[in-house]
Amino acid sequence: MEATLARPELDRTAGRTEPAAARPARIPRAERPLGLYDATLEELEERLRSAGEAAYRARQLYGWAYKRLAADYGAMTNLPVALRARLTASLPLSTLSPVREIEADAGETIKTLYRTADGELIETVLMLYPDRATVCVSCQVGCAVGCAFCATGLGGLTRNLSAGEMVAQVVGAARSARARGRAVTNIVMMGMGEPLQNYASTMKMVAILHDAHGMNFGARRITVSTSGVVPRIDALATEPYPVNLAVSLHAPNDEMRDRLVPLNRRYPIAALLGACRRYIAATGRRVSFEYALMRGINDSEETAGELAVLLRGMLCHVNVIPLNPVDLLPYERPDRDGIERFATTLRDAGIPTTVRYSRGVEIAAACGQLRAQEPAG
Ligand code: SAH
Ligand code: SF4
Repeated sequence: MEATLARPELDRTAGRTEPAAARPARIPRAERPLGLYDATLEELEERLRSAGEAAYRARQLYGWAYKRLAADYGAMTNLPVALRARLTASLPLSTLSPVREIEADAGETIKTLYRTADGELIETVLMLYPDRATVCVSCQVGCAVGCAFCATGLGGLTRNLSAGEMVAQVVGAARSARARGRAVTNIVMMGMGEPLQNYASTMKMVAILHDAHGMNFGARRITVSTSGVVPRIDALATEPYPVNLAVSLHAPNDEMRDRLVPLNRRYPIAALLGACRRYIAATGRRVSFEYALMRGINDSEETAGELAVLLRGMLCHVNVIPLNPVDLLPYERPDRDGIERFATTLRDAGIPTTVRYSRGVEIAAACGQLRAQEPAG
């Protein structure tokens, strides 16, 4: 067991996809360009006011950027030409450039690979369902947590994304949805990275998207997923924005979880569930537990029973996610019977459970996988 679960020795540059010479030089954080999508309405008003412009122009800009999804300042026809020219020269609309878009599931899963201003690759997935359209947003380039089964964790953390780089992914998805006669209804922070290790920018993204002059996107339709950063779960419970919390549990005991989610050594299950209980008590909101099901690792009926005992009586829901296998990693997805048996054991024990067959398996839509496949150069 030990040998199977241990993280294999991997090339720490595996997630990096271009030779060093082809990559633009790393731009220090302070010099990295921020774009329009990085600004709250108040910040934009202040910027325009200090440039001698009327503050109401900020609301007009917000309307163009988020309600009409304008692709450039040139389209913003009720703004003076001189202001549009000045903005074009001084404040990029987006700091992300799309590299490619791939469709799967008969066009209902759309994955976009973006390049940041400093040459990093990140990815966003839009999933169209009959009753909703969900965008899966990345919050970091790589991730420091290094879960054993996750493509994103393979190369460690390169850097946090800015709020604007996250907002840009939502705007891009909103445009893709609109082109298909749809609108984004849900946002899940389940792309690359650990949102509670990029907390301030994640909450700023929520604030920008929430603004009624812009996208007016309700916090209840935003889900933050975490591998279990306990102090930040407590912080989240005090935020004015009622986002949903998903916790990536993946195991019912510390021995198993220590190996799958290394952060468990810092915040073991008892501490994590303590934070979840405080969160539920403070907010009255249900917590979702994510459980990536891996054959022979965490998928036995006994393990399901142990999980049911652990979660009994909590205001919660379990999402069983059959693993999306990752190249270079030894973990496999159980067969359909094994998956259903695990879910049934939980349900029979009174734990509300959904099996989430992941989208876009053939385009490697488990986040972090498309980037890992990008050819060099
Ligand atoms: N860092 C955060 C959010 C991003 S990962 C977190 O870990 O919660 C989003 C979800 O995808 C998490 O539940 C994560 O455990 C899961 N995941 C990662 N790699 C996966 C894979 N190969 N197959 C299935 N789920 C995976
Ligand atoms: Fe990071 Fe989440 Fe992947 Fe773990 S599962 S390495 S926390 S992105």
